[in-house]
Amino acid sequence: GAAIGILGGGQLGRMLSVAAARLGFRCHVFDPGGEPPAADVAHSVTTARYDDAAALAAFAASVDVVTYEFENIPTAALDAIEASRPIRPGRRALAVSQDRLIEKAFLSELGLITAPFAAVDDAVDLAEALGEIGTPAILKTRRLGYDGKGQARILSPEDAPAALAAMAGAPAILEGFVEFTAEISVIAARGLSGEVTCYDPGTNVHRDGILRTTTVPAQLTTAQRTDAVILAGRILNALDYVGVMGVELFVTDGGLVVNEIAPRVHNSGHWTQDGCIIDQFEQHVRAIAGWPLGDGVRHSDIVMENLIGEDMDRVPELARDPAVALHLYGKSQVKPGRKMGHANRWLRAAG
Ligand code: ATP
Ligand code: MG
Ligand code: MG
Repeated sequence: GAAIGILGGGQLGRMLSVAAARLGFRCHVFDPGGEPPAADVAHSVTTARYDDAAALAAFAASVDVVTYEFENIPTAALDAIEASRPIRPGRRALAVSQDRLIEKAFLSELGLITAPFAAVDDAVDLAEALGEIGTPAILKTRRLGYDGKGQARILSPEDAPAALAAMAGAPAILEGFVEFTAEISVIAARGLSGEVTCYDPGTNVHRDGILRTTTVPAQLTTAQRTDAVILAGRILNALDYVGVMGVELFVTDGGLVVNEIAPRVHNSGHWTQDGCIIDQFEQHVRAIAGWPLGDGVRHSDIVMENLIGEDMDRVPELARDPAVALHLYGKSQVKPGRKMGHANRWLRAAG
């Protein structure tokens, strides 16, 4: 049978493995950690570092196509794989999403709206950028940030030195603060032959920089809903993308503002597991394997709640609730801020 290689064995790699297994694929997971969540369900796991070119080459040779669950894969690792097997989504999507400055420049060139932004490497850049953009603003590391890490808010110019210190010397980007009425995301997919399909946008609520809930459908006008889907399609087409992508958007009175894109299955798409016939994980597997895509239609309205850290104490109660589908990641160690699982609550049949 055909085999799929997955870089990264966290919960996303685990749920991709489950979906792939259901379609008859064997999954080989590559992860530097000892017992990643995907190890329970994958066919095999390679434990090695992303700078181990020989291990990566052998891993690639054991599968037909390689995908990933996170976007911060070192370029050298991609070279080692691409010498023998395709990587989907491709390198352009990775290059764009690994660096917030390149990402925002790409989105602007497409004609999409982003927060005003400027590159910041030092105090002089920051003073200049604050002069252009003003406050409030957010300083973010260009690379490697997630769950709101590597960010500092600048409410007034006096906050600038502390914000710059928080970057610890890493190249940064200053973003003007977007006055949004809601945060939504579009989970979109593009197949090998270029067909695009989108799930209905959901509303995202964050706490402490971490996604707490996604509710579908988002409360949007028809025009906003259409705009969200069309702009996601434009991003995928421009990148000649293959696979599932998460597109995070701010809803504002002036239109939809693109926050960031994630070239992978996305936490805000977990609701699809219980709201759609074909969920985002199967959709991604279909895309990278060159299968036809599912249409992504929603049969149920769902609220997805992340179970973070001590939220795990609520599992027995959630397990008794007949409207809740539980998805737990098999992580043994509970830590504050650690995503342990999620609960999809059925609200109603889709109208
Ligand atoms: P993720 O875990 O989604 O990858 P991240 O660490 O990459 O998150 P962002 O999505 O850039 O970070 O920011 C996290 C949250 O901070 C956003 O969802 C939003 O609530 C807020 N935020 C980020 N940038 C802006 C902005 N320019 N204006 C207003 N709010 C912002
Ligand atoms: Mg991000
Ligand atoms: Mg984000």
